[in-house]
Amino acid sequence: MRKKRSSSSVLFLIIFGAMIAGVIYLYNSKMFERDLPVITMTDAQYWNLKKPLDISIEDNSGLKFYEVKMVTSSGEKVLTHEALLTPQNKLELKVEYPKMGYGINDTQIKIIITAVDASQWNFFSGNTAGLEKTFIVDKKKPYVSLITNSYGIYKGGTALAIFKANDENLEDMYIEVNKKKRFKVQPFYAEGYYAALVAWPVVEDKFDARIVVTDKAGNAMRVHIPYYHKAKSYRISKIKISDRFLKGKIAQLAYDYPETQGVEDSIEQFKIINEDVRAKNEKLIHEITSKTSDKMVSDFSLKPFYPLRNGQKVASFGDHRLYYYANEQISESYHLGLDLASVKMGEILTQNHGITVFAEENGIYGNLPIIHHGMGLYTIYGHCSSVKVAAGDSVRPNDQIANTGKSGYAMGDHLHFGVLVQGVEVRPEEWMDKEWIRLNITEVMKNAKQLIGRS
Ligand SMILES: [Zn+2]
Repeated sequence: MRKKRSSSSVLFLIIFGAMIAGVIYLYNSKMFERDLPVITMTDAQYWNLKKPLDISIEDNSGLKFYEVKMVTSSGEKVLTHEALLTPQNKLELKVEYPKMGYGINDTQIKIIITAVDASQWNFFSGNTAGLEKTFIVDKKKPYVSLITNSYGIYKGGTALAIFKANDENLEDMYIEVNKKKRFKVQPFYAEGYYAALVAWPVVEDKFDARIVVTDKAGNAMRVHIPYYHKAKSYRISKIKISDRFLKGKIAQLAYDYPETQGVEDSIEQFKIINEDVRAKNEKLIHEITSKTSDKMVSDFSLKPFYPLRNGQKVASFGDHRLYYYANEQISESYHLGLDLASVKMGEILTQNHGITVFAEENGIYGNLPIIHHGMGLYTIYGHCSSVKVAAGDSVRPNDQIANTGKSGYAMGDHLHFGVLVQGVEVRPEEWMDKEWIRLNITEVMKNAKQLIGRS
């Protein structure tokens, strides 16, 4: 009797233990996981009803069902739903506003998302997650109206545009050139007006500029700026690289730069300096000169730049240089400034107000002060022997900023004078020409102010 009881309780304990172990196993197994699906949707507060809603649903055990519903004054409508035969770990949905919904004039629309995973938890029905969000409806495109612009733009040159823009839920505003480069705009003269200098990069044959204004609901307005495009051809020059040059200047620079350490071949050294070091130095210049201010600008009357008294032009802006050694092209580059030479260690003067933003050595450009004159317009002075300004210094017309020299990749004492508009090199000749400045900048601003004043 005793024995029988004890053997049955042992059996009971074994079965009970196995059941507990089974429950623990199932409880911890993936089949019975208890993690809810994770639903994410755009964090925008506004919806234009045109842009599809980006919804993503994720679950470790896989998803077996989802549904996206819309709630408006005319009731509930299922926008999409699906029961998945093969559970999916991640779903990316683009949910469109239904065509039948265009008669609805609600100012707010609620979206309800439900997702169920393939877990056997909850008596095999899975874990259910939900997300609800109410969007403010904004179907109105931003308002954009072009006020004035420079009549034309040269390849490699600069132009000005002034426009009016507004939107209740404004997000971004810029001028896009060749669908690549974005120029920031600056508040101009009166509330709601904006201005920017734009540039036609010298290495690009085509030019297209448009004002782009977007709002937080996904509405966008694009207005083409009708500049008259002025073609300009730049020189292509073939330059023979001599052994004397390789053993002299190049060997000297190769000794200094980290990029050429351990490189013995002098043609290889030249290629690294002319391409890799140049790219690195120009990247720094582009970064420094890409900044603009958000402050309102009312005036931008510049005097023509004339940095070096009696400076003779020794190389032009935009030259496409092809380098040859033993009749074989080994490298190429673009010369993105104007080279001027006068006496050795000639005084470099600025003719306009500005702030020094950089005054250090920069590789092939040597000692290089960079000055911001406002509106994203920068001047740079390469190969200086000495620099008289430091970063943060204000400069005034006729201040001496440096002395010419041959620091960096320069053969003789000269000034490399460069002008950049928001990180794009432009023709310095325009900014050295009183008449060009008057017609393309000063008069355009004056006209804009008159038009704004009258409205
Ligand atoms: Zn130069």
